[in-house]
Amino acid sequence: MRAQKLGAGLIAQNQSALPPFILYRPTSLAEAAALTQEHPEAVIAAGCSDLVAQFREGCEPGVLISLQHVDELRAISQERGVLRIGSLVTHHGGSTSPEILSSLPALAAAWGSIATVRIRYRGTLGGNLLARRFRYELPIIFSALDGHMHFQAGEDLATLPVSSLWDSDAGISGILTSVSVETGTLLWYGYERSMRPVSTVSLAVRKHAVAGLAITAVCGSEYRRPFVLSHAAEASTIAELDADFVGTALAAQLPDEAGDYAGTIAYRRHLVSVLTRRLLARATGNQKK
Ligand SMILES: Cc1cc2nc3c(=O)[nH]c(=O)nc-3n(C[C@H](O)[C@H](O)[C@H](O)COP(=O)(O)OP(=O)(O)OC[C@H]3O[C@@H](n4cnc5c(N)ncnc54)[C@H](O)[C@@H]3O)c2cc1C
Repeated sequence: MRAQKLGAGLIAQNQSALPPFILYRPTSLAEAAALTQEHPEAVIAAGCSDLVAQFREGCEPGVLISLQHVDELRAISQERGVLRIGSLVTHHGGSTSPEILSSLPALAAAWGSIATVRIRYRGTLGGNLLARRFRYELPIIFSALDGHMHFQAGEDLATLPVSSLWDSDAGISGILTSVSVETGTLLWYGYERSMRPVSTVSLAVRKHAVAGLAITAVCGSEYRRPFVLSHAAEASTIAELDADFVGTALAAQLPDEAGDYAGTIAYRRHLVSVLTRRLLARATGNQKK
């Protein structure tokens, strides 16, 4: 037993109460963005599925800004080769969205494979990315797709690549409003989580800006930050790719720091090459996005 923070007596060790905080529930993005400028220290809440864990870990917000009534953040659109997904879109919403199913069905399939039913209706894209936990999968999925995050604080706008989530000096601040993915040059995308938690691989094949194909694989694990691996191939179609060669070339880029007590670096490189080859084999059989 321990004393409750609000002075209301003894409580069980696994329970704790938050000190009083100011709660804002804006109903528009402009209002929410203005609040983040007025209260830069505020904690932003979306579905709260991760925040509950953060409260248990010691997070005590003085100001909480809930985004639940900001409907603009639930928009999904596909225009001129760019898919834009609002940060408040839930895992269920993302994996069943007609816009995503028609423009990038493999993203819907990958998104549909994560979390439990309860969390799939509650957890959001923004919360999954900005919790910045190694075990969460949307950073891995959207990094391989070269996704970009769009932020607003007051009237200031900023765009950052999803892959910068793990840079300590990435300058993340304000409200994540949406994530965009360029679909025009994307030839194929797939996600392998069969070896989770030790290793997952998210893989995208794009037409290279000049010639050939650009392959991006993002390797995740529950215990280490995701690693972005890339390979440029001279091939003009996915069928021409040598899956063994590409798998080995990508796996070799995995830095030594990717190894840990759950798997040596040699084992992880082996997993990445196997999962990459499996994805490329799938890609040659089905070149739809
Ligand atoms: C039982 C369980 C199983 C799970 N399984 C999986 C799984 O298999 N794969 C997986 O990837 N994840 C899994 N998760 C994690 C889950 O996907 C995340 O908790 C969820 O996506 C977080 O979204 P949220 O809206 O609830 O975030 P919140 O808890 O509201 O917020 C999380 C963090 O993001 C910040 N934030 C949220 N939205 C914004 C925004 N728009 N702008 C700025 N900051 C913002 C908050 O300030 C907070 O720091 C699981 C969670 C649970 C509890």
